[in-house]
Parts: sequence; structure tokens; C-alpha cells
Amino acid sequence: MQTSAPQQHDDLRDALRALCSEFPAEYHRRHGAEGSYPEEFIEALTKAGWLAAMIPEEYGGSGLGLTEASIVMEEINRAGGNAGHCHGQMYNMGTLLRHGSEAQKKTYLPKIASGELRLQSMAVTEPTTGTDTTKLKTTANRKGDKYVVNGQKVWISRIQHSDLMILLARTTPLADVKRKSEGLSVFLVEIGQVLGNGMKVQPIPNMVGHETNELFFDEMEIPADSLIGEEGRGFRYILDGLNAERTLIAAECIGDGYWFLEKARDYAADREVFGRSIGQNQGIQFPLARAYVNVEAANLMRFEACRRFDAMESAGAQANMAKLLAADASWEAANTCLQTFGGFGFAAEYDVERKFRETRLYQVAPISTNLILSYVAEHILGLPRSF
Ligand SMILES: Cc1cc2nc3c(=O)[nH]c(=O)nc-3n(C[C@H](O)[C@H](O)[C@H](O)COP(=O)(O)OP(=O)(O)OC[C@H]3O[C@@H](n4cnc5c(N)ncnc54)[C@H](O)[C@@H]3O)c2cc1C
Repeated sequence: MQTSAPQQHDDLRDALRALCSEFPAEYHRRHGAEGSYPEEFIEALTKAGWLAAMIPEEYGGSGLGLTEASIVMEEINRAGGNAGHCHGQMYNMGTLLRHGSEAQKKTYLPKIASGELRLQSMAVTEPTTGTDTTKLKTTANRKGDKYVVNGQKVWISRIQHSDLMILLARTTPLADVKRKSEGLSVFLVEIGQVLGNGMKVQPIPNMVGHETNELFFDEMEIPADSLIGEEGRGFRYILDGLNAERTLIAAECIGDGYWFLEKARDYAADREVFGRSIGQNQGIQFPLARAYVNVEAANLMRFEACRRFDAMESAGAQANMAKLLAADASWEAANTCLQTFGGFGFAAEYDVERKFRETRLYQVAPISTNLILSYVAEHILGLPRSF
């Protein structure tokens, strides 16, 4: 399908398409239906080095930027898969690369690059505070050469398919800091060391078969050198990671958008009702044309967010706007595709209903559309804070 997006990544796209074609629609459909993890697919991506794309060459990775990482994610979704099973490694990488110590990078990056370790989890959300992140209640208190963690997290994805987790916890009580964003710290936790030893995991069955969990920390001890960067500055570090996450998920939505549009276009051209193809009706054409326009526009904002992130320029506004535009565009494309398929859109064998459910998530996670609008209103339009 023709696109206005930058064209300089054809080799990257060709390589991804070749790998993805080894995992046909039935493969993703089966895992979607069973709610199981597509281990062979993730292993193939790891072996081919794609999940180490952002690791610098000196640590064994490819030294690529968020732009290329986002193309990896886009191509997975465009091929009918779900990059949600593995996108964590890309956005978590930014936190470790930009704020980790040399010792942390030397210890972990080569092993992540080789596939020996996975850095797929990030634990931010909590059940009682939700999007109000700075009020989170999980604490990490320094005791000698350790931190002791207590609290609870919810919706923490890929814990059962990861070796490492980025954890955000409060190290200085809210009452003792000037600004609520101060006093939070980020840790790199080795999951194997704490599982059943201070950390309990409770899986959450859900609408998209996504591996996600509740976590309970009870006097969980982690080494003091798990701290990333300076104590108390973690919220600032995590924002970088969140901008990368929003941009990567925007790219996944773009991939979904093209997938829905290609499916719908082909079906509309083939399906004959009243003696002619349904695609001849403008009632079918116009919603598809509008959805295409919106996917294209969102795609341009996604590449601008990537460019700014890779150039170390502030990318918050563009990352948020790309996420909102892309999530809306993919949801519009999903709805239009389902309508174009009529009754057959509801049959599992066409994959439309699965992708429809999967792309719906991005209206809510990793940040809901309301919260993006609130960010734009306050930080870009300069309107008064509402909370
Ligand atoms: C499948 C899945 C995987 C996830 N994976 C992870 C993960 O790996 N790590 C992690 O940390 N989190 C993860 N999350 C959590 C996700 O980031 C949150 O669900 C999301 O940020 C929304 O937070 P919440 O669910 O607490 O909603 P709430 O904050 O409770 O909000 C509920 C609704 O109210 C709206 N709302 C709240 N406040 C306002 C306001 N002031 N103005 C207008 N509207 C408002 C929100 O937009 C939302 O629609 C995941 C979630 C899901 C569903």
C-alpha cells in the first residue's frame, strides 16, 4: 500500500517481512485463541537480533535508533502479529541506555543482545493510584547495601517471559518532597532473584490474551546497585522511557491500521453482492479512504516523534500526539474493516475480530486518550492544570 512515510528503510522492512512470513496467520490466531505466548516467534526475532536493535554495537547490539525499532514493531503488526508480546525490550532499553551506569550496561547489555536475558517488563501502574503515577505507594527503603521494597503493582506485562524488570518506587515519602515528581527511583530488578522471594505474581486473564500480572512485594530485598541513575530522580528517567513506549505503540497502531486497510480493500474488491463488488459502493469506499488518510497523517507524526527522540530533542509532545493519532486511526480502520467484512468479520478465521480486540487496547494503555488530551491542553496550549 502506497505511503507518504520516509522510504529509506526498505532493507529493514524486507528483512522483517521475510522473518514474519515464516509465522503465518494461523500461528498468531492459535496463540490469540489459547492466550498463549508466541515463544517461537519471539525467539526468532531475538536470534535475528531485532530485539537488540537499540543496543549500541560496543555492547553487541545493532546501534539503531527508535526510528528503526519502531519499524520493527510496525512490521510485526502489519504482518498480522502482535508486537505487544515483545515491545517492552525496546522501550525499557532507553532507560538503561540513557541513565544506567557503565557497570550496569556492561553487565546486562551484552547478555540482552545475545538473547541470554530479556528486559521485557516495566512496573509502574498500581491498583489504587492508576494514572496518578506520582502518588504510587510502592516504597523502596535503603538498608545497608540493599533496598527493601513493599507494595503492589497491577497490569505488569511479560513478567513470565522476562529476566529483568524496570521498577518505579518511592524512596522519599511524598510528604517530604517539594514536588510530587521528586523522591521516586528506578531500579533494574533481576526477576529470578525475587520471584517467590519477596515478590508474588498473580496473572490477570484478559480480553487480548496478553501476558500481564498483579505483583505483590513483601519485604523484597534488591541489591543497592540495582538503582538506575540517582535516587529520587526516577520519574524524570521513566518519562524518557514512556515517550519511547508511546512512539513504539504508535508505530504498532500504524502497522495495525495498514493491516486492516489491506484486508478490507482486498475483501471489498472480491466480495460480490447485488451482482457487483461491494468495493464499488461509495458507502464502502469512503470510510476506507478516510481511515487511510488518518493512518497516513498519524504515521508522519510518529516519524517526527522518532526523529526528535533519536536526536535527543524533547519528544514528549510529539510522542503523545503520535500515540493519540495512531491509536484513533487504527481503531477507525479496525471498525471500518469489520463493517466491510459484514458477518464474516466476526469469524475467527479471518483474524479481523482478534486484531480488532488487540488494537482497542491502545485507546487505554499505556496511556489513555483523555490523559494525552489533558497533557496537550496543559503543556502545549498552556491551559490551567485540571488535576
Ligand atoms: C493489557 C494491559 C497491559 C498493561 N501493561 C502494563 C505494564 O507492563 N506496565 C505498567 O506499568 N502498566 C501497564 N498497564 C497499565 C496501563 O498503563 C493503565 O491501565 C493505563 O495507564 C490506565 O490506567 P488505569 O487503568 O489505572 O486507569 P485509571 O487511571 O483508573 O483511569 C480510568 C479511566 O478514567 C480516565 N481518567 C482518569 N483521570 C482522568 C482525568 N483527570 N480526566 C479525564 N479522564 C480521566 C482515564 O482516561 C481512563 O479512561 C497495562 C494495561 C493493560 C490493560
